Amino acid sequence: MPEYPDITIYIERLEALVVGQPLEQIRFASPFFLRTAQPPIKTIHGATVRGIERMGKRIIFVFSGERFLVIHLMVAGRLHWRKKACKLPGKVGLAVFDFPNNSLLISEAGTKKRASLHLINGRDELAGFDPGGLEVFEASLEEFRSALLAENHTLKRSLTDPHIFSGIGNTFSDEILHRARLSPILLTEKLAEDQIKRLYHATRATLEEWTQRLRDEVGNGFPDKVTAFRENMAVHGRFNKPCPECGTAVQRIRYASSETNYCPLCQTGGKLFADRAMSRLLKKDWPRTLEELEVRKLKLIRNLADERLNNK
Ligand SMILES: [Zn+2]
Repeated sequence: MPEYPDITIYIERLEALVVGQPLEQIRFASPFFLRTAQPPIKTIHGATVRGIERMGKRIIFVFSGERFLVIHLMVAGRLHWRKKACKLPGKVGLAVFDFPNNSLLISEAGTKKRASLHLINGRDELAGFDPGGLEVFEASLEEFRSALLAENHTLKRSLTDPHIFSGIGNTFSDEILHRARLSPILLTEKLAEDQIKRLYHATRATLEEWTQRLRDEVGNGFPDKVTAFRENMAVHGRFNKPCPECGTAVQRIRYASSETNYCPLCQTGGKLFADRAMSRLLKKDWPRTLEELEVRKLKLIRNLADERLNNK
């Protein structure tokens, strides 16, 4: 899911490319992408884009008369800057915004189409889309603390909950927690003052650093390669690869269709958490510490080797 750094760069580039331009028309591949019937979408055709705003992970096109197009890319939605009147690709295309010289293609990979577009009239109605999470760059340490401690959750859940924090998802929560040296399953009510402070600074530093990195990569172009997995990330998407701080193999906890990655040495004092796939393999012998896992892995490998020998 595009998060604060990706969304910020999308917005900066859209500001440079489409503000002041008329949105000539929107072409739709899927009728489900547009979630509003009123006002009719055709009423926005020809209107000039006045600005681009961010609301959490949403991108908002601002038009005169308090009219707004609200895009939520969800997990697999992406934006692409194309030549004027580009084709709408069958499987992944959702819609194309045609401008006088270029077109903005909105795509979504996969069969689950979750990305959405709303045409909204009035700031009041727009405010209804705001999940209300704290903007960490506008927040003091005190504000950050009260948002964090308002409900007792695991850190992973709190950071990624759009009602608590704005613009953070699965990817950057992993990176933030690694930088803060905090466990993803630590409960917020158990946090000590220095841990809260560390988390506050790590959140801002991680998002800021990644935004700048993406800005440098994109330059005057367009972010065409938005991905949740990047080579220079510390832990996210790097299961079994060495932690850049200590070299320990990055671990994972899988749930539903995503996973949390963490360094057991830097973040959890050597503790490992049950991963369902791993658990199935090891049945009841779920290891509680890194050392145990290493021993069990060795045992498994040895057992497999023994089996192979016996079968010969
Ligand atoms: Zn580490």
